[in-house]
Amino acid sequence: MTEFADTHTHLYDPAYENPDDAVERAVAAGVTRLLLPDTDSSVRENMVQLARRHPDHCRFSIGLHPTEFTAESFEKEMQAMLEAAMLYKEELAAIGEIGLDYYYSRELAELQQKAFKEQIMLADLLDKPILIHCRDAFEDCIKLLKTHAGRNTRGIFHAYSGSLEGYKEIKRLGRFYLGIGGVVTFKNAHIARYLEEIPLEDIVLETDSPYLTPVPHRGERNESAYIPLIAQKVSEIKEVSVEEVAAVTTANAIKLLF
Ligand SMILES: [Zn+2]
Repeated sequence: MTEFADTHTHLYDPAYENPDDAVERAVAAGVTRLLLPDTDSSVRENMVQLARRHPDHCRFSIGLHPTEFTAESFEKEMQAMLEAAMLYKEELAAIGEIGLDYYYSRELAELQQKAFKEQIMLADLLDKPILIHCRDAFEDCIKLLKTHAGRNTRGIFHAYSGSLEGYKEIKRLGRFYLGIGGVVTFKNAHIARYLEEIPLEDIVLETDSPYLTPVPHRGERNESAYIPLIAQKVSEIKEVSVEEVAAVTTANAIKLLF
């Protein structure tokens, strides 16, 4: 059977009344490897428990997401993240989601940069890949990565929506993959226009469930079981078989996370 990986799926989210069923639906669709990314202390326990109930299929990361803290909660969230990273250090597959997000406001930009920098260094210390959430902050993300990356810093630019030039800049940083999700199925999606120029060896698939649902389910809750729809679209753009998309992107995901 063709096997897929979903490198970014929040199936522990309250949007799923039964997250175990969502895992089973994914596995039934051939999506046999799922990475559950952390965002903050409020979701962590549910996330770890879900992953532990499905050890053959799920792994998780630990990290503080750039929009999941306030100036007041920052220190506490960073401390909780660090404690979790130490507690689960043998079990966790990556540090993330970490990064910068200036979309809603730049008010906390400095704290976001501090969190990003410290977590890049933590990942280096633990020798784990990083899952990068970068929105309207590409230049600063690259700058911080260039400054603070260690010898073995590697990871995924999750929900990549930048330019082809941006991709080339990421390539120069070293071992990073682009996370390609449901957006690629949207009409006039920017990424779809130049994806043919990006080798499969540089991409991994992701849903970002419950968000960014691919066509034809756009507007509904997303599911890891929809990964084959994303693979299908990638295969059309790149004029290769779905099996080849699955084989290469799953191998990339396994090498990095599983
Ligand atoms: Zn996410």
